[in-house]
Amino acid sequence: MSAGAPGAKKPNLTSVTTINEDGSHFTLHPADVGGRFTLARRVVALVILAVYVLLPWITINGHPAVFLDVAERRFHLFGLTFLARDLWLGFFLISGLGFSLFFITSLFGRLWCGWTCPYTLFLEHVYRRIERWIDGDATARRKLDRAPWDSAKITKRVIKHGIYLLVSAIVAHIFLSYFVSIPRLYSYMKESPLEHFGAFAVVAFITLALYFAFSWFREQFCIILCPYGRIQSALTDDDTTVIGYDEDRGEPRGKKGSEGAGDCINCNRCVQVCPTGIDIRNGLQMECIGCAACVDACDAIMEKVDRPKGLVRYDSLNGLRGQRRRILRPRIFVYSLMLALGASVLGFALTKVHDVDMVATRMRGMPYFVDTDAVRNQFQLRLLTKRNVPTTFTVDLKDAPSWLRASGCEGGVTVDAQGEQQVTLVLFASKEEYIEEYTGSMEVTIRTKSEPGGTVIERKVEFLGPDPRMFQDLETESKKPDENTSQK
Ligand code: SF4
Ligand code: SF4
Repeated sequence: MSAGAPGAKKPNLTSVTTINEDGSHFTLHPADVGGRFTLARRVVALVILAVYVLLPWITINGHPAVFLDVAERRFHLFGLTFLARDLWLGFFLISGLGFSLFFITSLFGRLWCGWTCPYTLFLEHVYRRIERWIDGDATARRKLDRAPWDSAKITKRVIKHGIYLLVSAIVAHIFLSYFVSIPRLYSYMKESPLEHFGAFAVVAFITLALYFAFSWFREQFCIILCPYGRIQSALTDDDTTVIGYDEDRGEPRGKKGSEGAGDCINCNRCVQVCPTGIDIRNGLQMECIGCAACVDACDAIMEKVDRPKGLVRYDSLNGLRGQRRRILRPRIFVYSLMLALGASVLGFALTKVHDVDMVATRMRGMPYFVDTDAVRNQFQLRLLTKRNVPTTFTVDLKDAPSWLRASGCEGGVTVDAQGEQQVTLVLFASKEEYIEEYTGSMEVTIRTKSEPGGTVIERKVEFLGPDPRMFQDLETESKKPDENTSQK
């Protein structure tokens, strides 16, 4: 897009380039650009896209590396398995990611947007590449837009949108595989869509949403919808590294060699390559996604006109003004502290997530039962395993006094693979020993050891019972009739 060229538009600070005055969408055709940042971004994009495609195929501990198993309500993450009851960990994960983003933004601005955001990756490195391949460079694309609907244009449009739809469907299927796994997805695909209508509807919706977003809506998502773009001004300051134009060096812009002119030759190359249609020389703007295309474009021009590179560069606003730049600022300390805190809590919490679990709860009803010869407390043990093999739990009491015994789980309890079982455990003491030893409510530790794996889990419960003197009183009472009888 070059200002003044047919089909071009001059960016300004009072309106969004991609929205026409009547509110309609202005189609941008960013020019091709090459350079060190473009190359580096392409490599980063390929790596991230490869990870996205390959993750569902990589198996760890019998599950895909990242698998949100909706049917079983389990989440497998790099060998760890989380159940719905582990959902609270998501709070630390999401807030940790949020603070990481705050931290990175305050240091490097919108590095995330330009280099790693999935939306940018798919738009710039997949869909725009397809468009470039079919419709040609920016000039050819603008020309095609203005051309009448002859057979050549219709053919190109049909091929391009057909490929867009196909790619969108592939991306949607990969997305679904994170929730249903590749084998299950493959079995779905072999059957009628009506057999798994829910999954089919999700894929169809995502396909159409992707097609709409990447074939038409494009950069408007970043400019209008993305909340991250809106809050960046609150996260950055004059010491944040952004992409900026060195006004002192570049102005007054003009032809090379003209009287008093700065280094900017006003070639508009930085504007032509911008995927959001802004002019970086107007200063830092909300639409800038930090893609560095203008840096590469201007560096190439500077090389041609034999001037030093870096007229448009990564720098802070203070740096661009020639002032001292601070890296360590209060906000960096605050974000790092919150990040470290969240990461520590998450790290600690993850050590508490086992692939087996045991929960002990007192049975409803009476807190204890008194028989003619014993005092009993009944507990329900919920044993579950996230493993792919049957797991045997042996149950005992840890450091319990010898007069307190457990029954109900002798010989161990075997739980099916990825299963759950509830058993009753009775803690009891004989009446004689109870009268002798019991001194009030006491804490008891129920311990399970699971095989395979040997994971030990301990849960504390309370052993309750009546005042032992009650038995003595009862005994006295029961003896009384005999005494009376003997007196008679
Ligand atoms: S590419 Fe560089 S020289 Fe050309 S207009 Fe942009 S800032 Fe000026
Ligand atoms: S101004 Fe430069 S860095 Fe910002 S979006 Fe445009 S080309 Fe990318």
